[in-house]
Amino acid sequence: MSDCIFCKIINGDIPSVKVYEDEHVFAFMDIAPLTKGHTLLIPKQHVADLFEMPEEVARNLYAAAPKVANALKAAFNPQGMNTVNNNGAFAGQTVFHYHLHFIPRYDEQDGLQ
Ligand code: 5GP
Ligand code: ZN
Repeated sequence: MSDCIFCKIINGDIPSVKVYEDEHVFAFMDIAPLTKGHTLLIPKQHVADLFEMPEEVARNLYAAAPKVANALKAAFNPQGMNTVNNNGAFAGQTVFHYHLHFIPRYDEQDGLQ
């Protein structure tokens, strides 16, 4: 989609810090990290949210999820990690290209509840 910022990130029209990429997905650092290493995993196919996600896109996205989690674990050595996904404006979604948040958690005060 031409007016989607995450499609532009996939195409390289908007710069990002890449964490992982394969044929089907792209993962990059969140521009406003909640904790050190906060990353977003997105399908390369434009899908607005989980409600609209074809099964094959879901399969490819979750096939990559442990790779992203382990890359972040190796890079930042967190004590745990939250994965979060907001669907719909009412649920807090602000970018309408599906994204799975990876939020590393640390045993020092990381500012999150
Ligand atoms: P949502 O609130 O939709 O679940 O999350 C959207 C996320 O995208 C936010 O955490 C926000 O910081 C991030 N974000 C928005 N615009 C950009 C951008 O241009 N680049 C990057 N790397 N992250 C972005
Ligand atoms: Zn898009």
